[in-house]
Amino acid sequence: MCNRLLPVFLCCVLFASFNFGQLSEARRITKQLCSPNFFGRGYVKKGDSLAARFIGDEFKKIGLQPLKGNSYFQSFQHAVTTFPREMVVMVDKDTLLPGVDYLVDPNSGSSKLHWSYKQLSTEELFDPALFQKYVSNREKEQAGITSVLIDLSSFKGDSLKRLKIDIIPNLAQQLDVVVLTSEKLTHSVGNEPFPYSLIYLNAAKFKLGQSIYTHIYSKFEPEHYSTNVIGMVPALPTKKRFFEKETQPQTLFITAHYDHLGGMGNSTYFPGANDNASGVAMLLDLARYFQQHPTKYNLVFIAFAGEELGLLGSRYFVNYPWVDLTNIRFLLNLDIMGSGEEGITVVNGSKHTEAFQRLVNLNADNIIPTIKSRGEAANSDHYWFSQVGVPSFFVYTMGPNKHYHDIYDTYEELSFSKFEPLSELFRRYLESF
Ligand SMILES: [Zn+2]
Repeated sequence: MCNRLLPVFLCCVLFASFNFGQLSEARRITKQLCSPNFFGRGYVKKGDSLAARFIGDEFKKIGLQPLKGNSYFQSFQHAVTTFPREMVVMVDKDTLLPGVDYLVDPNSGSSKLHWSYKQLSTEELFDPALFQKYVSNREKEQAGITSVLIDLSSFKGDSLKRLKIDIIPNLAQQLDVVVLTSEKLTHSVGNEPFPYSLIYLNAAKFKLGQSIYTHIYSKFEPEHYSTNVIGMVPALPTKKRFFEKETQPQTLFITAHYDHLGGMGNSTYFPGANDNASGVAMLLDLARYFQQHPTKYNLVFIAFAGEELGLLGSRYFVNYPWVDLTNIRFLLNLDIMGSGEEGITVVNGSKHTEAFQRLVNLNADNIIPTIKSRGEAANSDHYWFSQVGVPSFFVYTMGPNKHYHDIYDTYEELSFSKFEPLSELFRRYLESF
């Protein structure tokens, strides 16, 4: 190598090592949040509270200040359905794998049962009077049908939708139900449990006539405690002239939920790497940067709990805010930050057109390949803030990684390919206020 290029080379090495530090830190956070210790950051094995404590420790390391009193933690109570013990689903002699061969519905009840099932015909499914005879059979404990099987493959369009939204949940109020499906198995979390078990079986794992055995233990927790983690970087002091009144600096909010779906049985859990360990990694990355580069705004960082249960943590904060909500200049919510090969989407982009255009202008050097605008959507924690008039964006990345709410959303599947440029764009954006 020619000596004249040595300074350039050293600069490159320095730059590369800086970036390496940023990315390796994001990887460390994400990997940790996806580890078995946190068990899907849900509601068994203390996964959620351990994750909250871990994030609090990271806030402390960075040097964030508590927003209220001397604690980062805002706790609230809510109901949740959990599956904390060993779970067994067998077809003939094969023990099926949770998340791969089957999922229990997030609101499934318990069952310890050799199933005596009847496949319901289309007529029986769509005419409640017709399947009522099975219910009364069960109530009378008569031998015969105690559970029903529904094969989704013969349904499409509106009837499929009605089955999923209306008919199947209604059946699970009255009988144990097994649903055969060829669709991707996608899980969520619930808090209104059915009295009976409801299972979605991978259709390839079952033939009509095979026996089904289940041992599912569903536990309803009516008063589970969850915790939002809240810290701040105070605004730079402003020099006031003697005749100017002292005013409170406005606030910018940066938020990301840390909860995910928890586990299913004793050993299977949903790591939620993209959704949303990656968003917490981005939130901490921005916190680290702004701790060193404060602005004229108070910057509030919140890792929300209970998002997957219906945006519960953010709803609680909006109902019991630790700041004057009218003093929030803007909120940036980060969810699914692990890819970005195909750019990002900005929810509320078409609602706040000036703010969206500013973001696009800050990407003039195309560090992010595309920035798509979307309308309003109640699909993450920005929503409740938006509802009370806080201007908010929810940004998510797009790319080839399609693992979502399943056991395959793992740390190993994340590319982080646009993590650094995205962080750079968010820095520019937050500094542009
Ligand atoms: Zn999410």
